[in-house]
Amino acid sequence: MTQASKAPAQIEKCRSCGAENLVLVLDLGKQPWGNHFVPIEEFTGHPTYPLEAYFCEACTMVQIGYTVPKELMFTSHNYVSGTTRSLKIHFEKIGEDILKRAAFGPTDYILDIGGNDGTFLEYFHRLGKRVLNVDSGVKQAKLSNDKGIECRNQFFNLESAQAILAERGQALVIHGSGVFFHLEELHSVFEGIKVLLAPKGMVVAEFIYLPEMVHNNAFDQIYHEHLLYYSLKSFGYLLAQHGLEIYDAQLMPIHGGSCIAYIGHQGGHAKTEALAAMIQAEQAGKFDQVETYLEFAKRVATLKNQMTEMIEGLKAEGKSIQALGAPVKGSTIINYCGLDESVIDCAVEINPMKCGTYVPGTRIPVYHQDQTPAPDVYLMLSWNFKTEILEKLKDFRANGGQVLMPIPHPELI
Ligand SMILES: [Zn+2]
Repeated sequence: MTQASKAPAQIEKCRSCGAENLVLVLDLGKQPWGNHFVPIEEFTGHPTYPLEAYFCEACTMVQIGYTVPKELMFTSHNYVSGTTRSLKIHFEKIGEDILKRAAFGPTDYILDIGGNDGTFLEYFHRLGKRVLNVDSGVKQAKLSNDKGIECRNQFFNLESAQAILAERGQALVIHGSGVFFHLEELHSVFEGIKVLLAPKGMVVAEFIYLPEMVHNNAFDQIYHEHLLYYSLKSFGYLLAQHGLEIYDAQLMPIHGGSCIAYIGHQGGHAKTEALAAMIQAEQAGKFDQVETYLEFAKRVATLKNQMTEMIEGLKAEGKSIQALGAPVKGSTIINYCGLDESVIDCAVEINPMKCGTYVPGTRIPVYHQDQTPAPDVYLMLSWNFKTEILEKLKDFRANGGQVLMPIPHPELI
């Protein structure tokens, strides 16, 4: 984990297929690493890096061009799964689904790649199943181990997969939620999965679904941690390079549109009709064509103009504005739209590890939500948890408070 990153900072070839047919489709400017929350007293500035999305004309993979070293992003970050209630509920649903699909024998185990604080595996652990978490985050691994969910504090790649294989044998189920697009060591990770997955085993991969992201104008899903943005077609092409294939898929409403792909060894499972239907819809939506992404980029530019106009209008009326939540994707919105401490008083959070820091790229301080008087307007950065958050804001809104939704179009409610 202390090894320096070997990947070049700016790619010249597609991360998936190696072709040089990359087309720049969306330029979000230079941005800090969106999870770079440093305590105010230790603050010395936020370095910025290009945030540009490219489309590969050879394999249709959408990807960002610049790689912030993974050691910087995933060793001492502050994201903890357990703080989000709807995420816990979501994980339980996936857990139930997995148990319907996979028959666990006494020696079988489930591996969670990037399992964070162990939240996902808690369900299996409670039911007495064997579990293993692999996470590079130091705090997250400790939290997981403290819960009794064994966590290897390292990056998952071919090397760590071979070590796990020698120790435990092959895994019946390998789960990864929100990690398969982080992968700087992309091919090594899938080589690792290939050797570690039991012959009839399954990989349950949850990821931001590119067609939904484009449909929702959710450009804030683009940040340095997300190197890749998958359609089923482009993901399938990547997997085929490693003898793996998607055999089933379903859409999930969380994160503003994510997809779960069920992956096995090639020929290991029958492909479902649901998968065929989704692939057909992708084709109908032209998600394999560069024009789709150039149109998306135009809508994103319009969104920025609308957003800055609305904020200027609110400030002209003398309204105070706070960012509600400081998720990593909020950093993309704030930095792309050029919002700073002159218009946003502070961001409020319930994750104590983020309190007392600055929002990356700005001097907007992050305070604890329970200890901060409400503003006139909340800018809802975690718009994907809209229902849950609006429920919590019932009293605030009843007293005349307003909420500014940034996605899919800026809207005051
Ligand atoms: Zn490619």
